[in-house]
Amino acid sequence: MKKCAFAFILTLCLLLAACGKPVDTTAHTRTVFAMDTVMNLTVYGKDGEAAIDAAEQELYRLDAQLARGVEDSAVYKLNDLGAVNDATVAYLLQESLAINDATDGAFDPTIAPVLELWGFGSGAGEHRVPTEAELAAALAGVGMDNIHMEGAQVALEDGEVDLGGIAKGWAGQRAKDLIAANGAKSAVLDLGGDVALLGRKPDDSMWRVAVKDPADGNAFLGVLTAADTFVMTSGVYERYFEENGVRYHHIIDPKTGYPAESGLVSATVICADGVWADALATAVCVMGADKALDLRESLSETMPFELILVTEDGRVLYTCDSFAPGTGSDYTYEQIG
Ligand code: ADP
Ligand code: MG
Repeated sequence: MKKCAFAFILTLCLLLAACGKPVDTTAHTRTVFAMDTVMNLTVYGKDGEAAIDAAEQELYRLDAQLARGVEDSAVYKLNDLGAVNDATVAYLLQESLAINDATDGAFDPTIAPVLELWGFGSGAGEHRVPTEAELAAALAGVGMDNIHMEGAQVALEDGEVDLGGIAKGWAGQRAKDLIAANGAKSAVLDLGGDVALLGRKPDDSMWRVAVKDPADGNAFLGVLTAADTFVMTSGVYERYFEENGVRYHHIIDPKTGYPAESGLVSATVICADGVWADALATAVCVMGADKALDLRESLSETMPFELILVTEDGRVLYTCDSFAPGTGSDYTYEQIG
């Protein structure tokens, strides 16, 4: 009984103390250049500065660990030596395996040798259209069955690995988790167009994320209302080259070895898991709208996600009420799924 009374008085004191003090909603901001992208981090509240320091360090660390072109990176070692002992690479490849399976092979990090042929590789390779023979030879080494894992130990039987379609999602996830572990409850991390949201806004309302128009960097498709999630976009307009009037972009269909021709220009995925959000955005660009909707259905219990898709013929297809289409654009908007 005494214990109860004590707990009651303690709670009352804490409540009174909390009422007396205004909540600290100071915004702490930081610009970070990592993973070839300018990132803008904003963390709110009294623990914001320590949290943002931790996130910044982690982003640099992950960049150095996962970049295929950096000689000391874990991924470089895996490709160079055929084996590496690295818990993060092993985790990301385990997730890749599950995503590869779910997307019927559309997401495949062993696509690296094919990316290299097109000049979308790690170095300053020339952009060019490879010959059929070159593509066939490179595709022979593509496939998740080349990867063997046991704990943190990863071995690569053939080919090469590129985590470019998943690394930023993991970086966002780690940064978000570290910020939360440092005591912050509210943060918005702009990872160069991809967004990680921690909790809600400091005033407890939802975040409002402007979804960019793939055709015009200064225009928006609409506004998404969201909290505590990831908003990741992949687009065929981000990296490309032109040869004989044909445009070749950097998202490769592992079934053909050619840049994906799925009818989509961009795919935005909203998902609570950063790694899946990023990988699915890439995969959906390969799969196209119909297969993406089937995938959303089949993952609705285990990995729910929402989609905002832009098609080549100027339609915006979206699956969630929380997306408000913009006005004044030439797109046709359709809520689906
Ligand atoms: P970015 O944020 O750089 O636009 P994306 O998430 O859109 O990255 O992924 C594109 C990157 O994914 C490519 O640059 C390449 O490294 C890699 N990639 C391309 N095609 C595939 C694929 N089918 N499966 C897995 N990764 C891919
Ligand atoms: Mg991606």
